[in-house]
Amino acid sequence: MSVRVRFAPSPTGFVHIGSLRTALYNYLFAKKMGGTYLLRVEDTDRTRLVDGAIENMLHAMSWANVEHTEGVVLGEDGKVTQVGEYGPYIQSERLDIYKEYIKTLLEQDKAYYCFCSKDRLDKVRQVQKSEGKVPKYDGHCRGLSKEEIQAKIDAGQDYVIRLKLPANKEIKFNDMVRGTVKMNTNDLDDQVLMKSDGFPTYHFAVVVDDYLMKITHIIRGEEWISSTPKHVYLYEAFGWEAPTFVHLPNILNTEKKKLSKRHGDVAVEDFRKKGYFPEALVNYVALVGWSPEDNQEIFSMDELENAFDVKRVSNSGGVFDTNKLNWVSQHYMKDADDDELTKLCIPFLVETNMITKEEAQEDYDKIKAIVSLVKEGMHYAKEINEKVDVFFKDELKIEEQDALEFLKLEHMPTLYEALEEKISNMDEIQADLIKPMFKEIQKEHGIKGKNLFMGTRILITGQMHGPEIPHVVTILGKEEVLKRMSFVKQNYM
Ligand code: GLU
Repeated sequence: MSVRVRFAPSPTGFVHIGSLRTALYNYLFAKKMGGTYLLRVEDTDRTRLVDGAIENMLHAMSWANVEHTEGVVLGEDGKVTQVGEYGPYIQSERLDIYKEYIKTLLEQDKAYYCFCSKDRLDKVRQVQKSEGKVPKYDGHCRGLSKEEIQAKIDAGQDYVIRLKLPANKEIKFNDMVRGTVKMNTNDLDDQVLMKSDGFPTYHFAVVVDDYLMKITHIIRGEEWISSTPKHVYLYEAFGWEAPTFVHLPNILNTEKKKLSKRHGDVAVEDFRKKGYFPEALVNYVALVGWSPEDNQEIFSMDELENAFDVKRVSNSGGVFDTNKLNWVSQHYMKDADDDELTKLCIPFLVETNMITKEEAQEDYDKIKAIVSLVKEGMHYAKEINEKVDVFFKDELKIEEQDALEFLKLEHMPTLYEALEEKISNMDEIQADLIKPMFKEIQKEHGIKGKNLFMGTRILITGQMHGPEIPHVVTILGKEEVLKRMSFVKQNYM
């Protein structure tokens, strides 16, 4: 039987980094096994729906290159559409299917109508809590006769359908990460399968769909492991073989708490907006909860597809550490194609008015040279702004105390005069002219070492650190270099 896995997000607005990881592991597992990876939309909780959420999610997945070949996809026109022979793949379009299967369970007395009001359920729960018990449905409607049920339906009473769990039955399943998991039905609730609005609950729909879509492995977040026994019972009740389960460890922050919005960036979109390369994010996310046999840390998608082994998924929480992500990301920045990186950086430069849209086109080669010069040490494209004021700001603002003090050193006026004279005499300033120029200044004025190099750097860039001066001056050009030096002299020396 060929492997079929699915990513089954609920369209609630944003794609958590944990969802990206779930999708990625499903994708990698399918690739590795030569199987199929599909995407199903679980939208049965009508209270949590957000407009445009499906599109956003599909965009996020396609940005990350975690592509599925079946299920809900974006069509060429950018609209949501579906492909595959097991559809529909959006649960709200499958209501008739769920009704059929609920009928089967009712007929076999494995499910029952429940007419309890919210008020009653709240009261039952309160009493149970006050008695120190774990709240669960008390089975009030389990024994209603056919006539009683019909009478209530005829009277227009709202109802739900609940699973009729047998008492004291051990439910067991094998999880590829967790090993054997056991639970007694006495510790489980008679789960609602169909809600009063006619929609199935997640628990019911997920089982019916995974069965009908011939899913062989369910790879999902650990938060679902406590629900799995109910699902396993449902498979049994229908007489279906349950798929294999793989529950992925939670993603924690560096303080070992569950990674949530309150602690900074957690949405795929946050990282896209900062200008991370998707390959970098995916590379890092793959390592949160999975480790390869050797200690390799930089993986292309192809390499991940080869190396990924679900047996090496950890059973304890994976830590999402932005520093580590940045470390991985630095590799991608460093190796990036200059055009690709420049195109990624330009919108950030335009957004902060460092350059105009027109300049982005007219001065493209210059911008590319700058990007190539400063890319080392960058983690994401948005950081470009901190790296390049020296090239784009007309007036250098020097704030660094050490730089300001350096400009007051005794030799600085002489250095200024010497630089000005030599640069003015050049036809055009070029990288290979700088070293000989420094040699001459050293010989003629006795200025050397830090006094010479740092002094020049501050005069031209206003900063004590940055890219190599010969490259900087080549990009700036003679006029600009002289203009900057003169500005620094007038304002800070
Ligand atoms: N709709 C569920 C979610 O958003 C899917 C859980 C599962 O994969 O079974 O997490």
